[in-house]
Amino acid sequence: MEILRAYKVEIDPNNIQRTLLLQCAGAARWAWNWGLARRIEEYKETGRSSNAIEQHRQLNTLKGGKYPWLYLYSKCIPQESLRDLDKAYQNFFRRVKNGETPGFPKFKSKKSGIGSFRLTGAIRIEDNRIRLPRIGWLRLKERGYVPTEGIHVLSATVSESAGRWLVSIQCKREIEITQATGEPVGVDLGIKTMAVCSDGREFENPKALRKAQAKLRRFQRELSRRKKGGKNREKTRKKVAKVHQRIANIRRDTLHKATSSIMAKTKPDSERPRMIVLEDLNVAGMVKNHCLAQAISDVGFAEFRRQLEYKSVWYGSELMVADRFFPSSRLCRHCGCINSELRLSDREWTCDCGAIHDRDLNAAINLKNLAVRAVRSERAERQNACGEEIRPAVVWRAASSKQESSAESHGRFW
Ligand SMILES: [Zn+2]
Repeated sequence: MEILRAYKVEIDPNNIQRTLLLQCAGAARWAWNWGLARRIEEYKETGRSSNAIEQHRQLNTLKGGKYPWLYLYSKCIPQESLRDLDKAYQNFFRRVKNGETPGFPKFKSKKSGIGSFRLTGAIRIEDNRIRLPRIGWLRLKERGYVPTEGIHVLSATVSESAGRWLVSIQCKREIEITQATGEPVGVDLGIKTMAVCSDGREFENPKALRKAQAKLRRFQRELSRRKKGGKNREKTRKKVAKVHQRIANIRRDTLHKATSSIMAKTKPDSERPRMIVLEDLNVAGMVKNHCLAQAISDVGFAEFRRQLEYKSVWYGSELMVADRFFPSSRLCRHCGCINSELRLSDREWTCDCGAIHDRDLNAAINLKNLAVRAVRSERAERQNACGEEIRPAVVWRAASSKQESSAESHGRFW
């Protein structure tokens, strides 16, 4: 199967290259702003505006006269910016049609960062370097991460973040997918422990994250004391940006390690889970709750799910998301009772039937059992189709507890 994927690596430009990259990012930002201004003008005059292809043509005719400096950079840079602008327009109008109230595409300011630019065309990758059109060879800081064979490179996006330059290589890659056949795994996401699996594995939030967060708070306090427009304020702002990036890096790294480990990517088919079950957390809704927002964004639930979604395709597994009203943590996995008095602070609870539960592990096992039942009922249906009369096992749904369960989905993390 052919998949699309990206490899992002830090690059190590020398001073001359650094200046060039800055200029390229500037050209990309300029083209976006030029395109946006033109579109607004055109719309005022004629009631419609040009698309990316028309705008690129217009820009090319202006290149010789008004903007000769554009010849200094790859023609891809303005072209890709105009394409992005096109996409921004399309997204805007799609959302308006859907009855949402999105923000209109904005002009890009240097103040909000150096930004990025995208190149297509002849891109070559070797073990520790990449060749970009009109820029030349750039050293990669990680050797051997980006495959040099078996990929078809579509584009490369160069961006800057807190003083570091990165390249993200978009490519097509042919991979062989074999169906995983191992036991399903249920995953309970939490704030204290990032994830608990039904097989007992736990993924903690790294200590480095907490340390970096403490540092961030210190720098932010420092920033608030600095005089506006001063040199020291700029210095502190850079420090804050660096720690922000470090936190993001740690978080991403932890999530990737956890999701890859859950997928058991290096194991044989029979040991990789055929199904992964997650709860359907209403992340967007919870993030609106101000107090919960920090804790939830920290753990990156949405990102966790996104990674599992695409990794499950790569590793021949299936991602199942439990019904939002499934009371995973309050259901006793032995007798099927629901403990409606369970509070978020209860890490352990005893059911009337005598079973003692670890809250998170019980939830993870309940989720896993959903998959087990789903597989069983699927099998039963298949047998049914063959003429045998077997009643399919019903996938558990908490129809009787719809009302209390909305409290479950919103109040779970308290
Ligand atoms: Zn029980």
